[in-house]
Amino acid sequence: KPILLWFRKDLRLRDNAALAAAMDAGREIIPVFIWDDEGEGNWTPGAASRLFLQRALESLKKDLEEHRLKLVLRKGDSQKALEKLLEETGAMGVYWNRRYDPAAVQRDSEIKRWLREKEWEAESFNSSLLYEPWEVSTQQGKPFQVYTPFWKRVGALDRPTPIEVDLRKLRVPESFPETDSVASLGLVPDHPWVEKVDRYWKVGEASAEKILSDFLEDAVDDYKEARDFPAQHGTSRLSAYLHWGLIGPRQIWEAIVEAGREKSSGGQCFISEIGWREFAYHVLYHFPDTPESPLREKYEDFPWEEDEEVLQRWQRGKTGYPIVDAGMRQLWEEGWMHNRVRMIVGSLLVKHLLHSWSHGARWFWDCLVDADLASNTLGWQWSGGCGADAAPYFRVFNPMTQGKKFDPEGDYVRRYVPELADLPTKVIHEPWEASEEVLREAGVRLGDNYPNPIIEHKKGRERALAAFEKVKG
Ligand code: FAD
Repeated sequence: KPILLWFRKDLRLRDNAALAAAMDAGREIIPVFIWDDEGEGNWTPGAASRLFLQRALESLKKDLEEHRLKLVLRKGDSQKALEKLLEETGAMGVYWNRRYDPAAVQRDSEIKRWLREKEWEAESFNSSLLYEPWEVSTQQGKPFQVYTPFWKRVGALDRPTPIEVDLRKLRVPESFPETDSVASLGLVPDHPWVEKVDRYWKVGEASAEKILSDFLEDAVDDYKEARDFPAQHGTSRLSAYLHWGLIGPRQIWEAIVEAGREKSSGGQCFISEIGWREFAYHVLYHFPDTPESPLREKYEDFPWEEDEEVLQRWQRGKTGYPIVDAGMRQLWEEGWMHNRVRMIVGSLLVKHLLHSWSHGARWFWDCLVDADLASNTLGWQWSGGCGADAAPYFRVFNPMTQGKKFDPEGDYVRRYVPELADLPTKVIHEPWEASEEVLREAGVRLGDNYPNPIIEHKKGRERALAAFEKVKG
């Protein structure tokens, strides 16, 4: 009798613990993916993430076909879909890799209970994280809320290695149930934006491995320094692949060791960023309310402003702060934004503009190909000063200083804000400082083809400090 292998955020064949276990049990395998948007609670994947998912499914389908397996796609309630498939195939049960976001945790544990009650097999595994969130705790047995001690504790544990999957041992069933087509899942909205974002991503398990090996060859040695410069290709851009599980953190760590970079500063820094991802999952798992409400409760009643026009200017990259606008436009263009710039745009929204971190989180959720409930929540509550290991309330990024420091030649701004492209480097991060003549020569008409700052920096900073000071007290 076969086993249903229920794919979710683990869309790969290598280092796939559920697949390995099903094979070890000597079972024929029926790979299944169910698009259960209602089962995602408040956080159904946004448009960019669904586009990435669509491409990942197309690729997984092909990879499975090479091994004579058919990916069976269904739409709707997960439990109902599994029940139907179990009946259609006479399978013994279901194996899957775990998820950690609250809606999935609840749904999966109900499904596991139900399967076992009905005497079907139900086994779950870890293929998304280095360590389970419950495997790491403080000396008092509590979850961590600060990254450094969390990562230190992890450092005392053994390094988990990738799970061997010997595909030659695959057992293929004689027949497969009917499947929906990838297109019929309706993942991709009918919008020209899709075509644009699509061009930036080559999605598949093999692509993820190639991106990693190229990164280890070309960029890891400079990673520690280069990772803060958005005009450079200094980071891996693996986040969306990690989110959908086209590659896993065990594989990444192993590859770093194999490249002899485990002890190098670049290699260590890169692993510690994978550590931030682990930390984000740890926090989300132990504090499942955080996507909706701040970890630090006193921020719950923060007097946020609500101004649709202000929010839209931020979303569309029309704040008048070049580095912020470049970031927001990169997001719209590519479905991805550089980490340094995510922090800068986050600070502007939350501090200068006094708009809730949750508005930022929602916009990112819809626009990022790597939208991830754990990392996005952590990142936004960091910006808002109200989460685990968050930025202190008095840290208000100065967008001009950040721009000059991390985009010193203005290349990043020029790439994404073409109306400023001809400005001299000296004023590219603060066009209002340029003389009329310089602006004229560069074709910049402030307040016309490029906006004036949405709020004056000093005023925004003082207003933010006053508001945050009250909550802090
Ligand atoms: P690299 O620098 O190559 O890092 C390698 C991997 O480490 C990343 O792919 C990612 O999985 C992990 N990582 C790196 N930095 C962080 C971090 N600060 N927190 C958690 N994991 C990290 N990351 C997401 O994956 N999804 C999100 O939805 C998300 N939202 C964010 C929102 C805000 C406001 C901020 C400040 C950060 C957010 N991040 C998010 C974290 C980070 O910006 C991205 O992971 C990173 O930019 C991805 O690019 P990369 O793969 O080139 O990273």
